[in-house]
Amino acid sequence: MKENETITQRQGYKFRLEPKPKHLDHLSQSLGANRFVWNKLLSMNLYRLRNELPILWYPEMAWWITFWKQSEDYAFLRDAPSQSLQQTAKALDRAFLDAFDKKQPNKRLPTKKKLGKNEAGIRYPQGCTLDENNRVIKLPKLGCVKYRFSRKIEGAIKNVTISRKGGEYSVSIQTERELKRPVHPATGDIGLDMGVKRLFTLSSGDHAEPFNFEQLTKKLAQAQRMLSRRVKFSANWHKQKKRINSLNARISNARNDYLHKVSTRISQNHAMIYVEDLKVANMTRSAKGTQDNPGSRVKQKSGLNRAILNQGWGIFINQLTYKQKWRGGDVIAVPPHHTSQTCPCCQHVSKDNRQTQAEFLCVECGYENHADVVGALNILQRGRQILAGTQPQGMRGSPAKCPVR
Ligand SMILES: [Zn+2]
Repeated sequence: MKENETITQRQGYKFRLEPKPKHLDHLSQSLGANRFVWNKLLSMNLYRLRNELPILWYPEMAWWITFWKQSEDYAFLRDAPSQSLQQTAKALDRAFLDAFDKKQPNKRLPTKKKLGKNEAGIRYPQGCTLDENNRVIKLPKLGCVKYRFSRKIEGAIKNVTISRKGGEYSVSIQTERELKRPVHPATGDIGLDMGVKRLFTLSSGDHAEPFNFEQLTKKLAQAQRMLSRRVKFSANWHKQKKRINSLNARISNARNDYLHKVSTRISQNHAMIYVEDLKVANMTRSAKGTQDNPGSRVKQKSGLNRAILNQGWGIFINQLTYKQKWRGGDVIAVPPHHTSQTCPCCQHVSKDNRQTQAEFLCVECGYENHADVVGALNILQRGRQILAGTQPQGMRGSPAKCPVR
């Protein structure tokens, strides 16, 4: 690591926006325009895919937006911040690119944006200024809007996005600044194995419990049952729908808080963190447990909880990655194959090594440990081999030392 090396630190901030009634029309209208642009371009591309035609990419999308704005039918698009419509097209362009990227097997084709559910936000790539003393943000076409100040932002504003969820508005601000590369206060490294029964297990034997949402998800399931009994689109139905949206928001906030707490703790204590490459891991460790060892609570865990969990892993790794960057550490993804079946002591790979979901007993050398700790130890070894430049799977180079003792 060179001295005086600088890194570009990107940081995201999210604040509750407090629009006045006079702002609401413009906000709703702009959100609607962005949703319209997303859905219209999406359905054009899906149609083209069905008919085996080449799909539209950003330059053509931008042309269509300009065309619609000049037309009489879609004149309402003129009232929305025009750069935000282009940003929405760019996001859709990226979503299609990801969907066809072989390295991202879990990505699917983009889906429709729905009012009140997963709306397209209004992204401003420039032209926003923040007045932190008066706690207002100045936005193109809209003017000054109050926001709930919770911390000072650092760096230059790169872009600003307004979104609406559960009837509440929030503003996300991304900043960028050049910093001297920090030196991580800790020196050790650690392997981390993500799981279902435990959120993760460390090669040190330490582990974190999964986040517990039982109460909130129970409430959510109840609210959804209630919704199914309401007359669709009636006043009560809308009221119930709103309740569901705000419950969803509460669950995702609680989950993020929990993940922040644990990711901070790990990042503080280890300079180098090795994790499984989630893109390749292909989510085989879903609620079903591993493919060979189905979990015992498959039914309960599937559906709702599983979606929250799967999403949680990605968020957690992202948090770890940027926290490590700040501190001068790193997160390294290792190939996930057979991490649960390989003996960390003699490297023997066998399904039979895995006695049950929790027990590991090597049929070759008799090494015994908790199966999740074994997974984490294998991840640690692979990470060290990657750093040393030796093959992670061929086990060439110096023989691996027995991790216990
Ligand atoms: Zn062994």
